[in-house]
Amino acid sequence: MNETRECETCGKIAELFCYALPGIPMSVGNCRECTNRCAYPFSTAKANTWCIGGLENAADWWLESTTFKDGKYLTVKEALSDA
Ligand SMILES: [Zn+2]
Repeated sequence: MNETRECETCGKIAELFCYALPGIPMSVGNCRECTNRCAYPFSTAKANTWCIGGLENAADWWLESTTFKDGKYLTVKEALSDA
């Protein structure tokens, strides 16, 4: 049974779905919308990009992955380009 709590990606209070992120050895509790979009929490997107040496070293699939920042869904590239 899923519980209602704060989505780890967008912060919305909702029924959460625990799922493993593609390419990252961790799981997050995301609301239905974030799960459908396969969105990463921004802190995870930022930390993982830093781990691989920054945006210039990131694979295209990673740059096009979805995260959530300042109230909207963005690609990892968009979210980190103006950071
Ligand atoms: Zn969410």
